[in-house]
Amino acid sequence: MTRIVIVGGGYAGFYTAFKLERLLRRGEAEVVVIDPLPYMTYQPFLPEVAAGSIESRHAIIPLRRHLPKTRVINARVTGINHVKKTVTVTPEGLDDFTLDYDHVVITAGAVSRTFPIPGVADFAIGMKTIEEAVSVRDRLIDNMHVAADMPPGPARDRMLTLVVVGGGFAGIEAFAELRSLVSSMLKEFPTLTIDDTHFHLIEAMDRIMPEVSLKSSLWVIKNLERRQAHIHLNTQLTSAVGGKLELSNGMTLETDIVIWTAGVKAQSMLGGTGIPLDDRDRICAGADLRVLDGETVLEGMWSAGDVARVPDLSGGGVGGYCVPNAQHAVRQGKILAKNLAAVLRDENTKDYVHKNLGAVAGLGVGYGVFQSGNFAVTGLLGWIMHRVYHGFAIPTFERKARVFTNWALHLIWGRDFASVRKVQRPREFFEEFATRPAPVGKKAKAPSR
Ligand SMILES: Cc1cc2nc3c(=O)[nH]c(=O)nc-3n(C[C@H](O)[C@H](O)[C@H](O)COP(=O)(O)OP(=O)(O)OC[C@H]3O[C@@H](n4cnc5c(N)ncnc54)[C@H](O)[C@@H]3O)c2cc1C
Repeated sequence: MTRIVIVGGGYAGFYTAFKLERLLRRGEAEVVVIDPLPYMTYQPFLPEVAAGSIESRHAIIPLRRHLPKTRVINARVTGINHVKKTVTVTPEGLDDFTLDYDHVVITAGAVSRTFPIPGVADFAIGMKTIEEAVSVRDRLIDNMHVAADMPPGPARDRMLTLVVVGGGFAGIEAFAELRSLVSSMLKEFPTLTIDDTHFHLIEAMDRIMPEVSLKSSLWVIKNLERRQAHIHLNTQLTSAVGGKLELSNGMTLETDIVIWTAGVKAQSMLGGTGIPLDDRDRICAGADLRVLDGETVLEGMWSAGDVARVPDLSGGGVGGYCVPNAQHAVRQGKILAKNLAAVLRDENTKDYVHKNLGAVAGLGVGYGVFQSGNFAVTGLLGWIMHRVYHGFAIPTFERKARVFTNWALHLIWGRDFASVRKVQRPREFFEEFATRPAPVGKKAKAPSR
């Protein structure tokens, strides 16, 4: 049977497989998704996961459950040989194996883009995965608990300082949501006030959120300033060693949490595999999402999402290409599936064309911004639009139901402030009290009753 191998089960890969399951006739082709993660992550919800407004498991979509007709392999693809039409599959901790394909779809997404600033690689954390969002949430909540009993001073300030680097959508949403979390937690911490908590966002450009108008972006800055969250424009991080931050404007800050959201770059695992990449490591795809080597179509190779450079035929893209976002990844995945099915049936492919629908951001409970062309909505209505849009956009009815139900429960009891940070060191409890074998020559101590 024809085999279609999809490398990466994120937005674009998930929707390609999801659509293929509906388009393909029984026995027409086998679809295989390979991803080291057993789930697709709904990344726009990560800031709300970090802020405790969405349960972490509700923001991920388990592949096996929601792609029942697809074979899922949890492993990394570490090589593609398009001459032999094989992929090298590397499961964690096991030996590599190869898998043949007739069509390969590369949807391996993007990773956080960093610069060689001292301390960043060792100290900062991204906001690209569910694990990062959960870790930030637990750490911030734990720090509040510890700081509550500390005397005022630099050590306590460090615990209560949060810094975000990068004023794009992801950075601003994470910053604003975490501000909202800490502000709402303060009522449970009588020894702390809002003046004891310090929120700083560092942005190298002269504005934030290029996806919205300047007017809307200025509203966001003002709104955050009112909530005691400060944005430093035209400022760069120059050092972050051990949490001691130095900024290009001469300011210094000490913090326990630095969230790095200063852009993404295409997943570079494909370097050296002979797949045509542009100068930014993106796979060069044509408008019908088949990979191009110069002007020549590479039959049997497809790509979409953040890893691909796809022409933006609506005329709105940066440099003529689609910007990396979920709006494109979802729609490209669906068109890719249709085109692949068309090729299997010797039919014609269609070009991908999508006009940007606008942008919507959540900035913490009660605050949001929506922008479409010159039309903008800010404040409570913007926040409601954000929740309605994303609540319905997360794939599958089951996940939508979980997210909306949880939001409804929060209207009654508020969000959940519980932190389970020790989950990152789960054996500590057991190990502390576990009886070990006596050193050779000594009797083991009887366990106390
Ligand atoms: C905090 C945040 C908020 C966002 N908000 C918005 C928003 O409001 N609106 C919007 O349009 N976009 C938003 N985005 C961007 C959007 O999430 C991405 O553009 C989208 O996820 C890209 O989809 P993708 O399929 O290309 O990549 P991904 O969804 O990242 O999926 C890539 C998959 O490939 C897998 N993979 C990587 N390497 C390999 C390998 N070697 N072998 C096998 N599998 C591999 C990964 O594990 C992953 O599952 C946001 C992003 C973030 C981080």
